[in-house]
Amino acid sequence: MSAVLLLFIYDSAHYIDKRLTLMPRRLTHIVGGLVFSLPIVGVSYWGFSENFDYLQLTLVLAISVVCIFIGSILPDLIERPTNPDHRKFFHSWFMLSAFFIVSFVMCFVVVPAYDQKVFIYLIFAFLLGYLSHLLLDATTKKGLKGKG
Ligand SMILES: [Zn+2]
Repeated sequence: MSAVLLLFIYDSAHYIDKRLTLMPRRLTHIVGGLVFSLPIVGVSYWGFSENFDYLQLTLVLAISVVCIFIGSILPDLIERPTNPDHRKFFHSWFMLSAFFIVSFVMCFVVVPAYDQKVFIYLIFAFLLGYLSHLLLDATTKKGLKGKG
């Protein structure tokens, strides 16, 4: 499902942002981040809560929007996208792998263990937002740092 979503983000982003081959715009990162992350947060909540609660789900998703927003623009706030070579450590394949592993652990270990703790979902949402930024940057010509 994530692969299909990613393809969708990549494809629509190309229509929205012609500069994508070099540098996705901030808006592309925000929209891409939300489209990629929100369903995963929602599905995780739905799949892992023992007492499914629509009110809490709404709360989780609402605050997740803020967390994803921050996560999806943070890499470019740390390393300003003044040119296509701006991507350093916080835009690296190492960082991407680390976020992949941490998000994966959050999704399958931490979130189920702390079922009703809204806070856990918010960290998870932030991680997914950051992850989406790196994935989106990785699709560009320059890619991420460490791939040449
Ligand atoms: Zn970036």
